Amino acid sequence: MEAREIIEFTEKFLMPTYARFPVVLRKGKGVRVWDVNGKEYIDCLAGIAVNVLGHCPRKVVIAVQKQVQRLIHVSNLYYTEPQTKLAKILIENSFADRVFFCNSGTEANEGALKLARIYMKNKFGEQRYEFIAAENSFHGRSFGSLSVTGQEKYHHGFEPLLPGVKFVPFNDAEAIERAITEKTCAVILEPIQAEGGIYVPDEEYFKKVRQVCDKYQILLILDEIQTGIGRTGKLFAYEHFEIQPDIMTLAKGLGGGIPIGAILAKEEIAQAFAPKTHASTFGGNPVACAAAVATLETVLEDGYLLDYCQRISKYFIKKLKALQEKYPETIKEIRGIGLLIGVQLKQNALSVVKKCMEKGLLIGLAGDGSVIRFTPPLIIEKDDIDEAICIFDKALREVTQ
Ligand SMILES: *Cc1c(COP(=O)(O)O)cnc(C)c1O
Repeated sequence: MEAREIIEFTEKFLMPTYARFPVVLRKGKGVRVWDVNGKEYIDCLAGIAVNVLGHCPRKVVIAVQKQVQRLIHVSNLYYTEPQTKLAKILIENSFADRVFFCNSGTEANEGALKLARIYMKNKFGEQRYEFIAAENSFHGRSFGSLSVTGQEKYHHGFEPLLPGVKFVPFNDAEAIERAITEKTCAVILEPIQAEGGIYVPDEEYFKKVRQVCDKYQILLILDEIQTGIGRTGKLFAYEHFEIQPDIMTLAKGLGGGIPIGAILAKEEIAQAFAPKTHASTFGGNPVACAAAVATLETVLEDGYLLDYCQRISKYFIKKLKALQEKYPETIKEIRGIGLLIGVQLKQNALSVVKKCMEKGLLIGLAGDGSVIRFTPPLIIEKDDIDEAICIFDKALREVTQ
């Protein structure tokens, strides 16, 4: 099919949930993708922080090829090796003792909320059901995960949502303490608010949150769906804050592009998910798990990629700050950590994103539309960054004229 046809039929046959850019992508390699007309793009969005190792990374491709030839699916009524291997890697490299596999971020958060509820119910009785979440957060689109998403624009039309959710400002641990009642079950937070506009909390925030949760015996759920798997230069972002959550959710980068989600928890909490309490037909699928094993092994190899992410991040941010000096009327602030970087404009950023795309650079939007989101593959090199910055510079020049 030609690009025009693909676009036409997509608009005709798919539910109109997305306002897509008029580009039909066909293949990718590393940080580059190509559209059906052969035009090349540098991908600094990476499938919204998914392709941590870039497009079609060799190890993931081979792992998936091997696994699809051996066994694609069998259900969780039997044991399979890829699932076990993946669980072992996650447990050996995190705070957690046990993991539950699912297929997406939303699903992971949905399960995490259920896990918190059932654990607290078993421990304290019926009344501990409330959740505290942050304003401007993003946790997903299902009723549970949407209910703890602190952005009204996503709630609109779907009320009534889950009762008993309280929202407090992000980066304010006292606000959490004030919101706690005898009914509170758990606090759910992103370590860095990503979709909401790339907001990094103060260094002490999570230590205070941890203290508050401990004081009132409330669970801390960290949504590391976007920040996990090396995105911030550590395998998990909580490592930056010297705390441990009770429950953590993963998805996006975990499968190196293959859909998979996970809920991780400490032993005592995980035990609340007894047989028949929660399940997933596809969760822990051998192909997805094989892809995730290959992804994690690559990310963890000698800690090389994690260190590299921190170093290349400094270079990227330095270049962006130089652009901020060049365009003080347009760029308000650069925020971020590792390769989760936001460029806050003083205006709506859609026209800049579109101009970049025309010139061969893919970037995303976040927050209220005035934040540009750079979430490139962790393997991005200096030359790629120079090229991306050059395009971004030209796009900024055109919109400021
Ligand atoms: C993307 C995202 C989700 C939702 O994940 P899906 O896989 O789209 O369901 C939840 N939380 C955070 C922090 C995310 O970035």
